[in-house]
Amino acid sequence: MGAVLFLPMPSSVQPRLLIIAPHSSYRIAPYIQAAESLGVAVTIASAGEHSLISVISQGLHIDFSDHEKALADIIAVVEQTPFAAILGTDDMSVALAASVASALGLPHNPPESAVLARRKDKARACLQAHDVLVPSHHRIELEQPISAQLEALEYPCVLKPLAMSGSRGVIRVDDVAAAQSALARIITILRDVEIPEESSAILAEDFIAGREVAYEGLLSAGDLATLALFDKPDPLDGPFFEESYYISPSRLSDSLQQKIKQTVAAACKAYGLQQGPVHAELRIDAQDNVWVMEVAARTIGGECARLVELATGQKLEKLVLAQLLDLPLPSMEFTGGAGVLMIPIPRAGILRRIEGTAAARAVGGIEELVISVRDGHELIPLPEGSSYLGFIYAVADSAAEAESALRQAHAHLKIITAPLFKLTEVNS
Ligand code: ADP
Repeated sequence: MGAVLFLPMPSSVQPRLLIIAPHSSYRIAPYIQAAESLGVAVTIASAGEHSLISVISQGLHIDFSDHEKALADIIAVVEQTPFAAILGTDDMSVALAASVASALGLPHNPPESAVLARRKDKARACLQAHDVLVPSHHRIELEQPISAQLEALEYPCVLKPLAMSGSRGVIRVDDVAAAQSALARIITILRDVEIPEESSAILAEDFIAGREVAYEGLLSAGDLATLALFDKPDPLDGPFFEESYYISPSRLSDSLQQKIKQTVAAACKAYGLQQGPVHAELRIDAQDNVWVMEVAARTIGGECARLVELATGQKLEKLVLAQLLDLPLPSMEFTGGAGVLMIPIPRAGILRRIEGTAAARAVGGIEELVISVRDGHELIPLPEGSSYLGFIYAVADSAAEAESALRQAHAHLKIITAPLFKLTEVNS
C-alpha cells in the first residue's frame, strides 16, 4: 500500500464523507439522503464522463477498471479536501474504498475481503479454513471431462456459478442426470460473464436442508452489533431458490439467535472484516447447526433495506453513516413485527397487468406495495432471471401478524401474462 496521508480534521467543520459507487447504484440516493439528515457533506466518486452525479452532489469521476489510477485520482482530491470517512456502496467499489481509507489511515476492511464477497468458491474455502460451518464444496472445471466430475459428487447437491447474485443459476439437483441438465442451463447463463476465470468453473455444494434466516449487522472495530434478524418462513428446498418472505423479529429461540450472531461474527473474523455493514444468509439444520450460505461486507440489497427501517425505526443507511462517522443516533425501540414479500414471478412470459393491487394495499398492516416491472416487460423466472415483480411491506403488532398480512395481500394479486413467442431465424 502507498504512503499514509494524515489529514487533520478541524472539529468545528461539517464532517465530509466520500462515497465511492458505481454510477448506476441504487444505493447512492439513500446514502445522500442519510448524509443530509445527519448534517454530513458528501462527495461522490463514480465512473462515467457524463454522469449525472454532479447534479445531485459534488462529484469526482473515476475509472473503476484501473484500480491504481482511480486510487491516485481520489487521493489527489483528498489531499485538497479532508474526509472523515470513506464508504464503498457496492461489491465493486468496496475494495477501492478500503484502499483509499487505508492510504488515509482511516478504519477500513482488508481490500481482499471484497473478493470473498464476490467469489463463492474462495469465500467457502476461507470460512472452512477458519472452522466456520459451510457446506462441503467442489469446483467443477468446465474445460475438463464433466461426467466423471458429476459422478463423483454426493447427491442431493447445489450447483451454482462462482460469482453471481440474487440466486441466479443456483440449482438443487438430486442425481447425475439432473446435474447434467442443470449444468447445461448454468453454462448458458454464464455466457453473460465477462471474466473468464468466473465462467470456466462452477461450484457444487452439499445441499443443507433446513430453515433459513437473513442477518443484518454493523461492525465497529471488529465488534458486531445486530440490527435485525429475519426469518424466511417459506421452505427453500429448490430446485430454485426464489426469495419470498422476510419477517422480523425472528421467532427462533434466543439461544439459536445468539448462535447465529456468533457464526456471523466468526465469519467476519475469518474475512478480516473490521468495519461497516454486514449482510448474511444462514441455514439452520435439524440439529440446530448454523451453516453460512453467504456473508458480505455490505447492506442488504435494494428495496429490502426498507425492511431494516421498519424493523429498527431507523433508515439502514443512516445507521451505517452514523456508525462510520461516530455520530450519535437516538435509539429507537421497535416492539411490533415487520415483514416484506419479494413478489415472486409466477411464470415466464410478457406481463400484461397485475390485478388486485388496490385490495392488497387495503389489507390491514400493509404499509406499501411497490410493483417494479411495467406491463409489456418480459418476466424471466429463476434460475435464468434474477428480479422480482415488486415488494409488499407490512408492519403489525407481531411478526406472525405481519406475515399473515403479507400472505393475505399476496393472495389478492392476480398476475396476468401472455406467452412470449421468440422469433427464430430460419435459414433457407
Ligand atoms: P446468491 O449469492 O446468488 O444469492 P447463494 O449461494 O447465496 O446465491 O444461494 C442462494 C440461495 O440458494 C441460498 O440463500 C439458499 O436458499 C440456497 N442455497 C444455496 N446453496 C445452498 C446449499 N448448499 N444448501 C442449501 N441451500 C442452498
